[in-house]
Amino acid sequence: MRNKFIILSCVLILFSKAATSQQLMDVTINVDSIHAIIETLSSDSLNGRLTGTAENLKAALIIAKSFQNIGLKQVQGLNGYFEKIDSIGNNVIGLLKGKSKPNELIIFSAHYDHIGTLKTNPHPNFRRDSVAEEYDTIFNGANDNASGVSALITLAKYFSIANNNERSIMFIAFTGEEVGLLGSKFSAKQVDENAVVAMINFDMIGRSHFEKSKPYMTGCEYSNLINILNRNLKKYDLKKYGRSFIESDPFKYENLFWRSDNIPFVHKRIPAHTILATSPDDEFYHHLKDEIQTIDCNLIAEIIKTIIIGTNTIVDATEKPTRINDYFFRKR
Ligand SMILES: [Zn+2]
Repeated sequence: MRNKFIILSCVLILFSKAATSQQLMDVTINVDSIHAIIETLSSDSLNGRLTGTAENLKAALIIAKSFQNIGLKQVQGLNGYFEKIDSIGNNVIGLLKGKSKPNELIIFSAHYDHIGTLKTNPHPNFRRDSVAEEYDTIFNGANDNASGVSALITLAKYFSIANNNERSIMFIAFTGEEVGLLGSKFSAKQVDENAVVAMINFDMIGRSHFEKSKPYMTGCEYSNLINILNRNLKKYDLKKYGRSFIESDPFKYENLFWRSDNIPFVHKRIPAHTILATSPDDEFYHHLKDEIQTIDCNLIAEIIKTIIIGTNTIVDATEKPTRINDYFFRKR
């Protein structure tokens, strides 16, 4: 038994030394697991995950359990993985300590709350659908934003197994997004902005816009984060990714940069940007039919790989994106 164990350890060590990020991605980014996460979070039993409800708390517990299974560390001063926000609920936060620069932080984030049911939807002017409303009352929010949470959890899994991040990586699942970015506003107040090197937020990455199987990033003119990501992607596989795989936000008139959980961090000059795949004019946006059947898990898997490859030089601490520039503050 003992010998066998030694041999097995050697194989594991050899594997982990030799494993390329490609091999690790193939092992850890699994379309079925992505599907399972979204299916759970968007199931009717979670009743649309409205902030302040028991089902919202249930979603938080499910995410915390995943963080625990992955082996993420808890952040000191919090209640386990929970960052309590007054009386409304909890952000869920887990950490992977950096090897050589533990005090420098990269944040990945996604909001897990949604808009509840026909009765509780906090947005008075939501899109009605009399036909759908005859047999459905729950806004399941599979794309908005169980899709983003599936990326968050999968990235945590990947980086935990890769076990080679020089900077610390923090994973935050925000609540309160749909009722005024409450979770991210609270969290941004707690962070030391000088410690955060970059933040990438995911919001609606499960359906493509214009049939394009690629992500876009908001607020690209305010830091050079997109250039770093696209250069790393180009270097990794020019044929697949070309020179500018991640698009700059094609829907600027919608002000998406100001409408998601990145923005409270942007005000502290942190290069904090949101990755999306879906159009703001998407037919199922804030719609009863935003359900698991409409989600493209292969698209999500590809976007996760894009982010791993793209952030490679930020995770290994050889590169730092520029801070949010003055142009942002002048424009406001
Ligand atoms: Zn939403």
